[in-house]
Amino acid sequence: MAYYKDETKVKNASDDLFDMVHKPGDQTTYAGIYRCEGCGHEIGIAGGHTLASGAPE
Ligand SMILES: [Zn+2]
Repeated sequence: MAYYKDETKVKNASDDLFDMVHKPGDQTTYAGIYRCEGCGHEIGIAGGHTLASGAPE
């Protein structure tokens, strides 16, 4: 879960794109915080970058 300090810098959105599921190694379309459905870890990543292909040890 993401935390924030200044609520004027965030906005709630319910767009369907937040429900998209990606596979390990996929390229991201949007910058954002991505959560692993396997372990629950979250990462921040830029749009166009590649998601990790495996779980960290
Ligand atoms: Zn994971």
